[in-house]
Amino acid sequence: MNSAQKLIFEIGQPGRIATDLPQSDVGEQLASALIPAELQRSEPASLPEVSQLELIRHYTALSMRNFGVDTGFYPLGSCTMKYNPKVNEDICRYQGLADIHPLQDEASVQGALELLYNMEQYLAEISGMDKVSLQPVAGAHGELTGLKVIRAYHRHNNENRTKVIVPDSAHGTNPASAAVCGMEIVEIKSNEDGSVNIEALKQAVGPDTAALMLTNPSTLGLFETNIEEIAQIVHQAGGLLYYDGANANAIMGIVRPGDMGFDVIHFNLHKTFSTPHGGGGPGSGPIGVKAVLRDFLPSPQIEFDGRLYKLDDTNPLSIGKVHAFWGNFGVIVRAYAYIRTMGPAGLRQSSIDAVLNANYCLAALKQDYDAPFEQYCMHECVLTSKKQKQYGVRTLDIAKRLLDYGYHPPTIYFPLIVEEALMIEPTETESKETLDGFIAAMKKIAHEAETDPDIVRHAPHSTVVGRLDETTAARKPNVKWAK
Ligand SMILES: *Cc1c(COP(=O)(O)O)cnc(C)c1O
Repeated sequence: MNSAQKLIFEIGQPGRIATDLPQSDVGEQLASALIPAELQRSEPASLPEVSQLELIRHYTALSMRNFGVDTGFYPLGSCTMKYNPKVNEDICRYQGLADIHPLQDEASVQGALELLYNMEQYLAEISGMDKVSLQPVAGAHGELTGLKVIRAYHRHNNENRTKVIVPDSAHGTNPASAAVCGMEIVEIKSNEDGSVNIEALKQAVGPDTAALMLTNPSTLGLFETNIEEIAQIVHQAGGLLYYDGANANAIMGIVRPGDMGFDVIHFNLHKTFSTPHGGGGPGSGPIGVKAVLRDFLPSPQIEFDGRLYKLDDTNPLSIGKVHAFWGNFGVIVRAYAYIRTMGPAGLRQSSIDAVLNANYCLAALKQDYDAPFEQYCMHECVLTSKKQKQYGVRTLDIAKRLLDYGYHPPTIYFPLIVEEALMIEPTETESKETLDGFIAAMKKIAHEAETDPDIVRHAPHSTVVGRLDETTAARKPNVKWAK
């Protein structure tokens, strides 16, 4: 066992120390006089006692256990785990961007405001919307902000519209955001082929419809071809269309939600526009809206008078602020750098390649695994372990077995409406060789499921810890120093 596998408390020796601090000039007596008695320790804190080198080796070894997109293939469906070019990291650390303060005078941060202003224009152009707000800091936050804008619009028109229609294939954040916004959720069933059931939609719309929330391509990785008819049905009933842009990686430069009839969109900059994510943030979920909704966007909005950029918060119809200052500025800068380095043709090409890569995986694996949908997929594909079930092997087992072969598993058990789902999103940044390696591992696992199901059922075998009771591991994680 090397030291990396020990807890930091188990290495080092009493009295060993990683820093060399000067003697305190406060004096122990004065210090204890200054700190109230009830806040003073009766015995020394139980801290690890290690040298600096032991400390560095310990954490470096731990960091090498981490699995990230920089270390291996990460086909986590619905998450767009594409490579984040390192130039984005350099640019967002430029002193002039990283060291400014949000309370600085506008005149002293014209460059940053210009960057934000331009970013709004880029996202408006990519989405086919008229005005963008960069304030929301996650996809789900964008959903909530977008729904607040929709609610403010209906109220402004003296309409009492409280219902949000959501297909049963939707990401969980859609109904959750609607609920947080105080709206009622109406769920509609999908067709066998994963598309929106038009009859069910017609039944669901009415004078109380505030909006339909839709992801296109859907969470099944399929393009909703009836989108124009769907938009017409919702608009005729007086409702608006909300576009969940988490899957925008399939459509950049090819089609625009604004042209499909959507009124509000959120982007996940941390997915589509290549900023690091995983582990919970930070993210960025800008929203774009059609002209009729622009006055309701969060304030302040960045205005340009031909000479100076200004933050304007005088709009009386605005829903107000949804985040401190300008949103997650560093994330926006990374996404800006990505858009500028890719250019329009590059963005379009990345969507084309993402769709190609997903279809390559689908075509290669649909003999070995069950493919629930007939048509071509978009940037991600759904398979199931229906065929493996007869040998007692389930989707979770396949995901765990992939760890033995060095791959991060795809998304599993989502979308919820597909039983034993495996959702593979390779992204455009992966090479054919990487995809072939993954496909070979998946084929091998399919073969093992038939011939040696136990090896799959008890996987992983090569990782630091084996199969955990995931509920207990989440609720009572055992990472502490235990005597
Ligand atoms: C990721 C995702 C969201 C939520 O976005 P966050 O940035 O994680 O809040 C919403 N819808 C879909 C389809 C997603 O994949």
